Amino acid sequence: MQQSVIELMQSMGHEQVMFCTDAATGLNAIIAVHNTVLGPSLGGTRLWNYASHTDAIVDALRLSRGMTYKSAISGLNLGGGKAVLIGDAQKLKNEAYWRRYGRFVDNLGGKYITAEDVNTSSKDMEYISMETKHVTGVPEYLGGSGDPSPVTAYGVYVGMKAACKKVYGNDSLSGKKVLVQGAGNVGRTLIDHIIEEGGKVILSDINETNIKKVTDKHSGVTVVAPSEIFNMEYDIYAPCALGATVNTDAINKMKCAIIAGAANNQLADENVHGPMLIEKGITYVPDFLINAGGIINISVEREGYNRARAIAIVDNIYGRTLENFEIASRDNIHNQLAAMRMAEKRISDIANLKRGL
Ligand code: NAD
Repeated sequence: MQQSVIELMQSMGHEQVMFCTDAATGLNAIIAVHNTVLGPSLGGTRLWNYASHTDAIVDALRLSRGMTYKSAISGLNLGGGKAVLIGDAQKLKNEAYWRRYGRFVDNLGGKYITAEDVNTSSKDMEYISMETKHVTGVPEYLGGSGDPSPVTAYGVYVGMKAACKKVYGNDSLSGKKVLVQGAGNVGRTLIDHIIEEGGKVILSDINETNIKKVTDKHSGVTVVAPSEIFNMEYDIYAPCALGATVNTDAINKMKCAIIAGAANNQLADENVHGPMLIEKGITYVPDFLINAGGIINISVEREGYNRARAIAIVDNIYGRTLENFEIASRDNIHNQLAAMRMAEKRISDIANLKRGL
């Protein structure tokens, strides 16, 4: 790492980062609180076997800042935070591990509220909830909202339709060819929505079981190898697997009109690839705007969960996506930058309000 942790925090605007270790359970955690102007920071706990501690720190810092943007642009009274736990999920996960982690979360006194993310489940949240009340995404039998993925998928579908409205003049997905990368929890529900509306799906995944779950249900889905996805023609690319798939090499090959998917940090480098997409004439729906359904669902859980209310708020992604396109075109900037400015404006407006300006 060229910069120290504090220099990185300063350059990205973080408020606080907590490092936690516990030899007895094997817990090694980094909890990053990016911004709490709008409310307590909320973001999932990711358990991952990082190649280095530096990779884990950078991931925690980037992901927590993304959560600030996501909640701010979605109109939620939440700040941004994220926790990353370092290690092998298969070996580490047990009750004591999660409860120890729950105590660390509790030490932050509500400044950080945790939730599910990669390699963490609502059952894990249940263990955490035995040590702290600052946890969401607990199972439905405990009054929680359960798996947020279907709501995230619905938000991606809504944002995809808004992009079609801009590009094609109407928002129907009927007859549109969509390449969905990743048939996971979000991708599978997104595919259901696309097919229900008469769209055609091309699917790519590395997991045969997940591919089969889709092809058993929808016989018309075409499956392609991951190496082939940018060598073919379709209207919409929906990244629902990994970050950074929108990179120089991929953009040079891309033949689609729209990118609209669930993955976080889709642009490998927003300063390079945001402008590159404009030059190529590809309409990109900013990731933290379109994939906010899950956090919206969780924010509703905090008020007393009501699925209809969550869906009604997620429907706002449509109008916000169109607003994002208008701001980007008015200010002659790329869509990701316009989305960041929309989020930053709301945070600074509310900060001024709180200061009585
Ligand atoms: P998931 O783990 O259930 O599914 C991911 C899928 O991607 C898996 O089927 C996996 O095999 C596949 N995959 C991995 N590498 C691949 C590759 N190289 N090519 C093709 N497929 C590949 O995850 P999910 O919950 O469906 O989330 C999908 C993405 O959306 C993730 O990036 C996640 O961070 C993001 N996201 C999810 C939510 C949510 O509510 N679940 C919310 C916001 C953002």
